[in-house]
Amino acid sequence: MVTNLQARDAATVLHPYSNLATLPRQGSLILERGEGVFVYDVDGKPYLEGMAGLWCNALGHGREELVEAAAEQMRKLPFAHLFTGKSHDPAIALAEKLKELSPMKAAKVFFCNSGSEANDTQMKLVWYVNNALGRPQKKKIISRIKAYHGVTVASASLTGLPNNHIDFDLPIPGVRHAGCPHHYRFAEAGESEEAFATRLAAELDALIEAEGPETVAAFIAEPVMGAGGVIVPPETYYPKIQAVLEKHDVMLIADEVICGFGRLGEWFGSTALKMKPDTVSIAKQLSSAYAPIAGVIIPDWIDEALTRQSEKIGVFGHGFTYSGHPVAAAVALKTLEIYERENILAHVNGIIPGFQARLKALGDHPLVGEARGTGLVGAVELVADKTTKRSFDARRAIAAKAVGFAQDEGLIVRAIGDAVSICPPLVITSAEIDLLFDRLTAALDRTE
Ligand code: PLP
Repeated sequence: MVTNLQARDAATVLHPYSNLATLPRQGSLILERGEGVFVYDVDGKPYLEGMAGLWCNALGHGREELVEAAAEQMRKLPFAHLFTGKSHDPAIALAEKLKELSPMKAAKVFFCNSGSEANDTQMKLVWYVNNALGRPQKKKIISRIKAYHGVTVASASLTGLPNNHIDFDLPIPGVRHAGCPHHYRFAEAGESEEAFATRLAAELDALIEAEGPETVAAFIAEPVMGAGGVIVPPETYYPKIQAVLEKHDVMLIADEVICGFGRLGEWFGSTALKMKPDTVSIAKQLSSAYAPIAGVIIPDWIDEALTRQSEKIGVFGHGFTYSGHPVAAAVALKTLEIYERENILAHVNGIIPGFQARLKALGDHPLVGEARGTGLVGAVELVADKTTKRSFDARRAIAAKAVGFAQDEGLIVRAIGDAVSICPPLVITSAEIDLLFDRLTAALDRTE
């Protein structure tokens, strides 16, 4: 039975990433409030937040300090911008802090509002900087099949998922998609993880050669693919990929929108997975999702190229009204302060073994073909046949069913194709991790 509120919702809100045909019949889960790692719907039913919202709400709900940081900044200066010679303290302090934490030697931070805008900015910087460097033919960007980089025209083009392209007339020209480092699905029979990584690097090398190295500018990668189904690459994948990029003078853009700020037990996923990025996109856990804010961290050589262009053109013609919004910046700064004060990295590293043990144990469930993950993120891929890895008929929407049962059990997780993904708030406790997996197991037991 759809409630009156659900009917009003379906009649008026155009929902992102939803089946717009079935939503009016099913009704949305309408949430009202949150407390710690739990959220409550309008009837007061609690749910354990197994996805930290959308991979973002690291500190959970009800953090008064973050509310206070926002309120204080709103009282003092609710808005100021960074255009044409203006600035403000929250943006300056946040940029300084991010430079200190950055996984590469950083020169400056460009602020924006979403991960999509960050990656859109990355693409524009690649084009602009290569024009500035006098190599206008070096413009192509290589992403990967199953990558998720956002939904603006440029970032959706980088995304390697069919639903973000079909009928949107994407991707735009100049984007290529290399192979996905998912060993379970894409390795050849008997191929070891090491051999698989070697093959992917060789295929990337061949792709760059075929395109012409002088036309390929950048490779973009999430350390661990998130929205593509939580795909953890083989251990030697990035060092091998990095060698190919260095050989062809192709820069590496790390999309740290999910992995940044502790998800893999380090400040950045790049560090955890031995990537050496040239630039980094950040968002989500930067503010623990209490305010929308994102950014691109750039190195000296890009900053210098941009500055030289301004000498020529007179302006760096890029930026958003809300770039470095003072309230969002103040919230982000407070978030980073809390991460440091509460030693969130130590907490995450303390709970990772228990989280991964419960996750991997789900591999024995009759429905689970692969239980995969690293750090505090994971997924279980549901299969019709564990031996052959045969998938369920897509019309059965098996993972969506499991997610529905999980919701009944009081757990929020997310279906991605045939996988159920799990990405709890970083502050989750070991007891809450047990509750999460108890509920997920109960949901899987009900799924058929
Ligand atoms: N990059 C990655 C790795 C993401 O996971 C996401 C969103 O989930 C984005 C970019 C896009 O971010 P946003 O939804 O804030 O535009």
